[in-house]
Amino acid sequence: MACVSFPTCPLAMAEAERFLPEFVTEVEGIMQRRGVGDEHIVLRVTGCPNVCGRAMLAEIGLVGKAVGRYNLHLGGNREGTRIPRMYRENITQAEILGELDSLIGRWALERQQGEGFGDFAIRSGIIKPVLDPARDFYD
Ligand code: SF4
Repeated sequence: MACVSFPTCPLAMAEAERFLPEFVTEVEGIMQRRGVGDEHIVLRVTGCPNVCGRAMLAEIGLVGKAVGRYNLHLGGNREGTRIPRMYRENITQAEILGELDSLIGRWALERQQGEGFGDFAIRSGIIKPVLDPARDFYD
């Protein structure tokens, strides 16, 4: 899912709707190469921190910071009941794909049966869960 962002929204800081198709294709390529092409990951992109694209309810959430740059959030779940925490700040598409290539590779090798990518990121210690957003979102 993505919000409309550029060129529709006057608050846009980075591409979202127009960025998503190519980005999803890149992530699908990583998943194929890592042997989890039949799996799915909830991935959302939003053009600014208002988060209309619901990146704060995704296993992988991108929040636009500037043209071509995003905060990468990890650790949401497939049910959309856990907020993902920021993993890397203000990075480029190439840097995001590099991070995801490594992390999806770990997920492919180390996941438990039926374990989603976001749940794996929490269990394996890649990212701490957000338990009380009012207190620990920025920890
Ligand atoms: S998240 Fe930001 S850029 Fe996207 S539609 Fe909402 S206000 Fe606009």
